[in-house]
Amino acid sequence: MKHETSQALFSRATALIPGGVNSPVRAFKSVGGEPFFVERADGAFLYDVDGNRYIDYVGSWGPMIVGHNHPRVREAVADAIGNGLSYGAPCAAEVTMAETITRLVPSCEMVRMVNSGTEATLSAIRLARGATGRQRIVKFEGCYHGHGDSFLVKAGSGMLTLGVPTSPGVPAGLSELTSTISYNDFDGATQLFEQIGPEIAAVIIEPVVGNANCLPPREGYLRHLRELCTRHGALLIFDEVMTGFRVALGGAQARYGVTPDLTTFGKIIGGGMPVGAYGGRRDLMQQIAPAGPIYQAGTLSGNPVAMAAGLAMLELVQEPGFHDRLEATANTLCDGFEEAARAAGVPLTTNRVGAMFGLFFTDAKVDTYAGATACDIGAFNRLFHAMLERGVFLAPSAYEAGFISSAHDDAVVEATLEAARGAFRAVAD
Ligand code: PLP
Repeated sequence: MKHETSQALFSRATALIPGGVNSPVRAFKSVGGEPFFVERADGAFLYDVDGNRYIDYVGSWGPMIVGHNHPRVREAVADAIGNGLSYGAPCAAEVTMAETITRLVPSCEMVRMVNSGTEATLSAIRLARGATGRQRIVKFEGCYHGHGDSFLVKAGSGMLTLGVPTSPGVPAGLSELTSTISYNDFDGATQLFEQIGPEIAAVIIEPVVGNANCLPPREGYLRHLRELCTRHGALLIFDEVMTGFRVALGGAQARYGVTPDLTTFGKIIGGGMPVGAYGGRRDLMQQIAPAGPIYQAGTLSGNPVAMAAGLAMLELVQEPGFHDRLEATANTLCDGFEEAARAAGVPLTTNRVGAMFGLFFTDAKVDTYAGATACDIGAFNRLFHAMLERGVFLAPSAYEAGFISSAHDDAVVEATLEAARGAFRAVAD
């Protein structure tokens, strides 16, 4: 594969953009090497500026669940653009979006649109603090909720990838208000609530962790958190920025049958445009300005073009059997990865939850942060490059979930597994 044009662009980029990228994990820092620059994307494929084609399991980090450049999404955006790009006054698409989200995720009785997942989680904890009159929030080691100050404590995603799970620049006074416990540890949560229950405004969790590889909740764990929060007067926030409309049509809360007080969204609801949202119980959401006193606003929030893209995508994911088909694809893919690894003598286990999956270089089943970080990261990095050379783009970090789209058909999966058979042999050498 040739990479001259990407290399030249990366060299220009590093002179002007920190690390050459506008979001850290894109830089390939933990896997080594340099990123390719994308010219266009279509279906399950990315095409780079040097004419290389990659089967894509990153999916723009989650939004592209119907594949890239889906004609229905593209046409909806083209139609919206014909009417102008931004109004700064309400439009009908915002109402349709609110109706769609509240119908698909019934715990959201009301919803507010924002422009990113980060804004959604920031706004949700402000609401939790304002509504409870408490200051402390509880998060889980390895979970990532965007780059708001309160969340950059033992965070996952790029922070875990770069080995800086707690960021400089966050005032100690603020990070002290974030307590961090271990995901899937029942007793750890119980003990924390026994110690400081009356101080806790909210527990925020990725119900399926997708920012420390892919970690499903243990049976009853989310219910345990629900009960603790209810008993101690704290709010339960599900950060469904990644899992929303992906692990099931109604998100992780539908899949596991646990109802949070507030939910945050992003990625899929924007259809590839910069969108986030938070929603939840009516009595809580009514406290947001201008209905109530807790302030939150946005110049471009509810943008008509972004709403059109998101609504088109949400239409597509409602097609009967959509999530079952993606789950079947994830199973075929992960079974195939395991088989390829076994044939090459490489220890590998996988997790799959709906249209998300994770690869773990270990013999053990992994469902904790400690388990994920104990895997052979060097082996993952070798696999990453061996797959890339064979035209398959996995997330450039051992700590990111992989994403399936409806464009990943049988032929794409078989081509991926053909690459995997060679790549695992290369990892073993
Ligand atoms: N929450 C979760 C679970 C995420 O995975 C992410 C981003 O990956 C965010 C929040 C932040 O979203 P954004 O990058 O749109 O700010």
